[in-house]
Amino acid sequence: MSNTKVSMEDIVSLCKRRGFVFQASEIYGGLAGFWDYGPLGVELSNKLKAEWWKAIVTDKDNVFGVDGAVIQNPKLWEASGHVAGFTDPLVDCKNCGARHRADHLAGTDSTDLVELTRLLKDKTCPKCGKKDLTKPRTYNMMMKTWVGPVEDESSVAYLRPETAGSIFTNYENVRETMRAKLPFGVAQIGKAFRNEISPRDFIFRVRELEQMEMQYFIKPDIQESTYQEWRDFAWQFLTKNLGIKESNLQWHEHAENERAHYAAAAHDIYFNYPQSFKELWGTHNRTDYDLSSHQKISGKDLRYFDEQTKERLTPYVIESSVGLGRMLLAVLVDAYTEEEIKGEKRVVLKLKPELAPYRFAVSPLLKNKQELVEKAREVYQALKKKHGNVVWDDNGNIGKRYRRQDEIGTPECIVIDFQTLEDDTITVRDRDTTNQKRVKVSDIKES
Ligand code: ATP
Repeated sequence: MSNTKVSMEDIVSLCKRRGFVFQASEIYGGLAGFWDYGPLGVELSNKLKAEWWKAIVTDKDNVFGVDGAVIQNPKLWEASGHVAGFTDPLVDCKNCGARHRADHLAGTDSTDLVELTRLLKDKTCPKCGKKDLTKPRTYNMMMKTWVGPVEDESSVAYLRPETAGSIFTNYENVRETMRAKLPFGVAQIGKAFRNEISPRDFIFRVRELEQMEMQYFIKPDIQESTYQEWRDFAWQFLTKNLGIKESNLQWHEHAENERAHYAAAAHDIYFNYPQSFKELWGTHNRTDYDLSSHQKISGKDLRYFDEQTKERLTPYVIESSVGLGRMLLAVLVDAYTEEEIKGEKRVVLKLKPELAPYRFAVSPLLKNKQELVEKAREVYQALKKKHGNVVWDDNGNIGKRYRRQDEIGTPECIVIDFQTLEDDTITVRDRDTTNQKRVKVSDIKES
């Protein structure tokens, strides 16, 4: 078995070849930082979302879901600090006009402009090679639009840069309608937009992303234990629910100069992406920063009345935040295997069976034999009724079908042959071992 690290080209090529991810508006040359999910990408990402939602909302008694609007009153983003502080450091090349993330170019996690100026002193532009870079400056990453027919300053609005915003503004609505007591959480899955200076690494750094976020509202005295619980949740989810290998994951604690403007503590889980270990999932202690700030700017009292102590307090928030695209990419990279088995080379996605876009592929041995096709259709319909995600595959010879299904991670391929017509048994071929066994049709229908 090969253990060499998978390259991003391999993943991009598999995603395109098999219908996971396409370049957005590809026929027009694409648009940097935007991607479309194809039929299999949608299946996989829906499963990831469903798994996360079940673990974080359905299986818990005190976490509730919301689905907020992408565009909100711009005051929300003033209160959250994004209008002033959602910035990345940027340098321009005076020679070729290319823009670069100053911290990436300097090879540091620091976003301090003085430090960056020092580190960038002798750097050249990676695009044209000239030593003609501007001084680093900050750049706001929120995407702007106008609401209504008049395009002026008073109608400016932003596409949300994170989903958390409408969780904070709905904190009181959820608390009241759900009669929730601290601690409780509010979760959301949705699109967010960031005008990244240099989108790259396929779906790792994009301008339109989907986030899965949960804000857990607590009394401040349990901030440390709750922070630890949500760190554990993220690690468990990745390793147990998604089956990602621990060796592909690492903790990374943010240094002070690296933390977002709202965070008192931040621990990321890094995944071993083809480019390097990079951020996948963040757990942050946002303290009472957001609710305090929303109280100040909106003038609404968002304090919580503690019935035991008869006091009012502004809850603290522990946040769990992960990008769906980065999760999907991690799952694909972790599962991608090139190996030689019984003298043949193959690419196989060793996905957890529950995550595979298709649970079974069903094939008649020959597609021009009516009796085989009819029998295969019957098995296919029965499995589809039970599992939903079953694919019919009668294209090419059996060897080609297996290779195709291996590449998309289908755990089992079922073949209906002449023996099926005699004794009602079928061949089930296992993706990982490639072993085949004969079982009764009734057994597989029960599975
Ligand atoms: P980075 O440092 O990589 O820019 P971040 O620290 O700004 O990320 P957060 O604001 O904490 O990220 O966002 C939460 C999660 O959303 C991240 O852990 C990541 O999974 C995802 N995410 C953030 N920015 C992007 C992006 N441009 N493209 C894809 N996913 C993203």
